[in-house]
Amino acid sequence: MAGWKIAVLPGDGVGQEVTPEAVRVLTTVGKATGVGFEFEQGIVGGAAIDAHGTPLPPATFDLCRKANAILFGAVGGPKWDHLIPDQRPERGLLILRKELDLFANLRPATCFPMLVDASPLKRSVVEGTDLMVVRELTGGLYFGEPRGVEEDADGHRRAINTMAYTEREIERVARVGFDVARKRKKRLTSVDKANVLVVSQLWREVLVRVSKEFPDVTLDHVLVDNCAMALVGRPTQFDTIVTENMFGDILSDEAAILAGSMGMLPSASLGGAVGLYEPVHGSAPDIAGQGIANPIAAIFSAAMLLRYSLNMVQDADRVDAAVLRVLEQGYRTGDIASPGTKRAGTKEMGDLIVRAVEEQY
Ligand code: NAD
Repeated sequence: MAGWKIAVLPGDGVGQEVTPEAVRVLTTVGKATGVGFEFEQGIVGGAAIDAHGTPLPPATFDLCRKANAILFGAVGGPKWDHLIPDQRPERGLLILRKELDLFANLRPATCFPMLVDASPLKRSVVEGTDLMVVRELTGGLYFGEPRGVEEDADGHRRAINTMAYTEREIERVARVGFDVARKRKKRLTSVDKANVLVVSQLWREVLVRVSKEFPDVTLDHVLVDNCAMALVGRPTQFDTIVTENMFGDILSDEAAILAGSMGMLPSASLGGAVGLYEPVHGSAPDIAGQGIANPIAAIFSAAMLLRYSLNMVQDADRVDAAVLRVLEQGYRTGDIASPGTKRAGTKEMGDLIVRAVEEQY
């Protein structure tokens, strides 16, 4: 049966290894439900620079635009580190987010009971952590103008990035934040730096205004430096966090410590007509090519794709449950292994999860 068109962009490094496992999981869901998935591969990032001289070839962009959803791996690696930011693999992803208007990035971070010991933090700190970071994705420092490097007459260089937000940009991500919080514990924490940045002062003002539309959600404000401490000190105090692009980038990586590993963290980028789903982690050059990367972040991302783009909520729940089942059985990739657990590589973990998904139907 012809069905949902999924653009698959594995990218570089471990992106090439974990994305196929997520595709296998979706294929399994397709077989079990009779829902058709058409997967079409696109080239992006460093691989695209090597093949076409650009990190986001027009054919890949076209494929994404016409798809119902995008499953993304990771981009980047040492081979392309010498390039200037505008030519690097990561630029391909930034353009994709911007062009598809994917302004809201949802990053859940959960400390699952069986992985409490995978976190370097004390059990008493991480146990019960279940939070969602809503990161603004198409504004702020990563896109603001002016940007670039200028040189004065004496050859001294000055580099500029600009943090800028319009009220409209803040309003729309704020609404996503409130909406997400409303479906969770109805507590929204807005993270800013309003004691120093005028951008943050506007951010806070708009958040307060939008909060009037969501009287059932409690809003509080935390400064980003304080939030960075609280995330590893008292993470259970948070439910939903909404913040600007760079703060969200940094804080959600910090949240990896709570979940045990970067290899556990999925994300959904929403806003425009096509959603993009990808692990929070990068191409992990230190372990790429060894078949040991954790595919769970990619598989959880596929579950988010089912949930948010295809409205297959029960199937998304089944995939999540299947992953937990395999973890309960004691299987671990190296990044989340602890004494007494059974070691699995990327493919083996994929096999186990595919089997567990089949058992859910
Ligand atoms: P990274 O996320 O690739 O790796 C950080 C650490 O986490 C490494 O020790 C790595 O081995 C580990 N890790 C990551 N994914 C894992 C997985 N699935 N299983 C087990 N361990 C995993 O971050 P980095 O090393 O700072 O960046 C490497 C490259 O990736 C850089 O070129 C960077 O620009 C790029 N990057 C891309 C994205 C993206 O594509 N969205 C995001 C972040 C970084």
